Amino acid sequence: MENLIILGTGCAGFTAAIYAARANLEPLVLEGDVPGGQLTSTSEVENFPGFPEGIDGYTLMENLRKQATRFGTRYANDLIESVDFDGKVKRLHSANESYEAKAVIISTGASPRLLGIPGEKEMFGGKGVTTCATCDGAFYRDMEVAVVGGGDSACEEALFLTRFCSKVTLIHRRDELRASQIMAGRTLANEKITPAWNTIVEEVLADEGGLARGLRVRNRQTDETSEIPCKGVFVAIGHVPNTKPFEGVLDLDENGYLVPQEGSGVRTSIPGVYVAGDCADHVYRQAITAAGMGCQAAIECERWLAEEG
Ligand code: NAP
Repeated sequence: MENLIILGTGCAGFTAAIYAARANLEPLVLEGDVPGGQLTSTSEVENFPGFPEGIDGYTLMENLRKQATRFGTRYANDLIESVDFDGKVKRLHSANESYEAKAVIISTGASPRLLGIPGEKEMFGGKGVTTCATCDGAFYRDMEVAVVGGGDSACEEALFLTRFCSKVTLIHRRDELRASQIMAGRTLANEKITPAWNTIVEEVLADEGGLARGLRVRNRQTDETSEIPCKGVFVAIGHVPNTKPFEGVLDLDENGYLVPQEGSGVRTSIPGVYVAGDCADHVYRQAITAAGMGCQAAIECERWLAEEG
């Protein structure tokens, strides 16, 4: 039986692990299918306190892992599919394994949302559709690409792609970006980026070889349909929380985010089960707020274990 199982290795999970390991809880961290979480697919992180020159997301996560490991965190690579939190012992089940713990911190993060249009799934990955410019941008050197979305992520992806691509069309469904002023300003000032306002993407078009060649789009104001030629399509329209295993067990809101108890940012309705990071935060969704929640969850958990465990 474990003292504490932490689900996820984003900023929330690693920070919880650092605090729990320093409190001698010897936490077991289950890594899931995106080790290091969303920041591993980000380029430069400019707003994490303590790095005046910025730090690339992958290095930041490697540092957090080293820090957690230094104090005795243990890791296993597994994806939890269901949980049983009925008794005092918390049981977690993956496809091949079952785990038991006195306490659990859920920091499973969120995954990129997709458009759900024809062609998207078929060309996802190596055929032209992706959600990660940092991972795939270099494949589109000197080519025309499109980014879909109007938030900070879309701006960040578009700006990053200008390093490689000849033209970046930023396709947004409204006439105003949702992104922060600084990101929106930088994006719209970049000569390689052309915005397509009020534009809905309806289909990813394939060439004879099955690779993306463009997008069929519709202007919301005129209802006119047209094609935007592009070899790469970067979808950046937000995220979906990874909370499926907890449906029917813990409180979720209408968008699937875990809802902490009143008066606590991290406690759930089940004693000894805590939440941290993007799986429970649709408001801030920042690396530093996830880390803060991870810290809170670990401290609450440590105190609860001292009293009840
Ligand atoms: P977001 O802020 O939720 O923006 C999602 C964008 O996608 C919105 O512009 C939205 O349009 C659009 N969208 C959503 N569903 C769509 C659909 N089905 N079809 C077409 N467009 C759709 O998500 P995000 O950009 O991933 O940012 C998430 C959080 O992370 C934010 O708090 C952001 O500030 C933060 N972040 C910060 C940085 C940074 O500071 N460097 C970088 C990345 C992310 P509408 O605007 O019409 O709703």
